[in-house]
Amino acid sequence: MHSDQITALRRRFHAHAEPGFLEYRTASVILAELAGMGVPVTTGADAIDVGSIAVPPTDAEKDEWGRRAVEAGSSPDEVAWFQEHGTAVIAELAGNREGPVWGLRVDIDALPVDEETAGDHAPVVGGFRSTTGYMHACGHDGHAAIGLALADRLRDGNFPGRVRILFQPAEEGVRGAQPMIDAGVTRGVDRMLAVHLGGDLPTGTVVGGVTDAMATTKWTARFDGEAAHAAAAPEKGRHALAAAAQATLAILALPRFAEADTRVNVGTFHADGSANIIPARATITYETRSTSNTVLEELNRRAEAAVQGAAQMYGVTAATKAYGRAAVSQPDDALLEDVTRAAAAVPAVEHFTPKGPSGGGSDDAHLLINEVQQAGGLGTYIFVGASNPAPHHHRRFDVDEAALPIAVDLLERILRG
Ligand SMILES: [Zn+2]
Ligand SMILES: [Zn+2]
Repeated sequence: MHSDQITALRRRFHAHAEPGFLEYRTASVILAELAGMGVPVTTGADAIDVGSIAVPPTDAEKDEWGRRAVEAGSSPDEVAWFQEHGTAVIAELAGNREGPVWGLRVDIDALPVDEETAGDHAPVVGGFRSTTGYMHACGHDGHAAIGLALADRLRDGNFPGRVRILFQPAEEGVRGAQPMIDAGVTRGVDRMLAVHLGGDLPTGTVVGGVTDAMATTKWTARFDGEAAHAAAAPEKGRHALAAAAQATLAILALPRFAEADTRVNVGTFHADGSANIIPARATITYETRSTSNTVLEELNRRAEAAVQGAAQMYGVTAATKAYGRAAVSQPDDALLEDVTRAAAAVPAVEHFTPKGPSGGGSDDAHLLINEVQQAGGLGTYIFVGASNPAPHHHRRFDVDEAALPIAVDLLERILRG
């Protein structure tokens, strides 16, 4: 597959950006492309355990995005299948000689960002601006295209071992990797790669292994109290909103840790009721992050204590639930040697750094890498510069399409051995 075809695929994904776990159009295009290449695929229960998705999409969301996918040209039967069995797709490539089993994670979901409409934004100029209300503001459209291009190149079988390309839903909010791990996708994988475009690096720059990712957990906390008349019997009520407010301030006031960087944020706050009623229910969502997996565990314990302590103050009950999770992983030196060799063989890679920072983001691909490393395998998370004109998740984010074939060439070199 040549650069113009990779670009065309990227633009196709870009124009129909979809939320996590609702990537029906995206997954059906991936499936059709792989079928056209004759590449075997794994989908459904062996690709993702939908039962372990902490907060699955609602039926209304499934209907809405399913309808849009069908309108865009996907078959209703296929969409119905994805609605029931999940949107993960795995391309299975077999080499013609003995060698390791490789995994490559590419993510496929988009963000609730309303894409730039100004005439100097490349997707507007090129006529592929997203019209779905969601936007590929993190480059996952490019990742999906890279995964397909790589499958196309490797279908000749001229490489050692096997390659599994994991097209992962719902990276944003770090929700999709865990249910794929629960389906067993990392079992038997010896070397795990993840690739990301952008990172505010210029095109031609590659970081072989990211070293400063943050582990994170995303939480909901629900407070259940009791409604009462706010004037006639306020003492009979149990004020869920007050407890949620107390918990919010307590979480934001958790101390820093000396041994690692941490972050906390409370991002949403909802309560039911009206001004003359003691509110019976409130919900907050919050996240914790750290550069250390063990510090994150302690931070999570303290946030839980803040939630439960606040609930106790107001006589309400609180229940927390983790709906997203990512860990920290470190690249393996032995694997970085392979990446370094491959980078040297791709002329368009002008600046290569074996290890480097990524700016403190989180990505649940590190969970996949951790799984493989804990089973004795190797892993690394590669950044491929794409001269992004605006930061990740911004409405003017874009990738330099010249970076797409660089990523494909680099990964092809690594996998051909
Ligand atoms: Zn992102
Ligand atoms: Zn991303």
